[in-house]
Amino acid sequence: MVDVSLDSVTKEFGATTALDGVSIDIRDGEFFTLVGPSGCGKTTTLRAVAGFDDPTAGAVRFDGEDITGVPVDERDVGIVFQNYALFPHMTVGENIAYGLRFRDAPGGASRDERVEELLDLVDLTGFEDRDPSELSGGQQQRVALARALAPGPSLLLLDEPMSALDARLRETLRRHVKRIQRDLDITTIYVTHDQEEALSISDRLAVMNDGRVEQAGTPQEVYRTPATRFVAEFVGDNNVFDGTVTGREDGVATVDVDGETLRLADAGGVSVGDRVTFCVRPERLTRNANENRLDIAVDTAEFLGETTRVYGTWNDRQIVVRLDDVPETETLPLGFAPGDATQL
Ligand code: ATP
Repeated sequence: MVDVSLDSVTKEFGATTALDGVSIDIRDGEFFTLVGPSGCGKTTTLRAVAGFDDPTAGAVRFDGEDITGVPVDERDVGIVFQNYALFPHMTVGENIAYGLRFRDAPGGASRDERVEELLDLVDLTGFEDRDPSELSGGQQQRVALARALAPGPSLLLLDEPMSALDARLRETLRRHVKRIQRDLDITTIYVTHDQEEALSISDRLAVMNDGRVEQAGTPQEVYRTPATRFVAEFVGDNNVFDGTVTGREDGVATVDVDGETLRLADAGGVSVGDRVTFCVRPERLTRNANENRLDIAVDTAEFLGETTRVYGTWNDRQIVVRLDDVPETETLPLGFAPGDATQL
């Protein structure tokens, strides 16, 4: 197992700066996710760790050792890509054994023993003689995972391995991958553009935007205390407000937002006259809050089963809230406690 650090990694492709000073520390045995919109630099980061491309500047370190210039097959990494990339003319067993072409199986196991072991790990015992075309998409990705794990790598890199699967299969495979990662205690870097997936699967995650890391932390930290407006809006639903501070008293700042006064717990450092941006999660806007009253004009409601997501407007701002049921009125009187606003 290994810890991985990226130290001010920059990657330029001609005039395009794909990575702009990315620094990340990934701990031994951690499930770490890179999440962000298309083109933000996730795959480029993963490729720099794998050794497919060296950074233009900065360093990648494994256990503190600079591995710049070390070829991919000497980095002891297992990689699973978005497209299954199984060999169609090989059986499942042969595909997995292909992962052992450069290295022996760990623990002195024979090739066949190792294939058996891996089939068991990914719950595909008995499938070794099948062709990949006889498997579902989720099963094919489990074979790709088994192949990547065959030589017992110290580091597992997963680049959108579930993006070709439907929602239900993704959920199942996600639990599978997480369980295997826990069992093996293998340092894992996972790339996805799906923020919900990133929150649910990771020990920690880095939210990337435009070649930079906007915030790294546990799912709870990133969700509850987003560091920037981008993170607040990218991770989960959110309501972002901006306004001018008009007063401060007893740890509460009063803020003029579109001519209305809202009160938020003062995170410190704001003065009268400052422009501030803050966010309030949909589930924090409630009917029984008696402060910060917002009369929301309901636009649409999505019934999601255990909850309903309601979109509305307040002073021309888009608002999203979570309610127990579809609202029956056109206006919703909601509010939030000053402590439920997070300053950005
Ligand atoms: P996606 O989710 O769409 O896969 P990503 O976050 O993985 O996106 P990258 O593939 O890392 O993004 O790309 C980051 C930026 O670098 C993009 O602007 C992309 O066009 C550019 N880029 C990546 N690889 C190359 C390359 N080989 N040559 C030129 N530009 C590249």
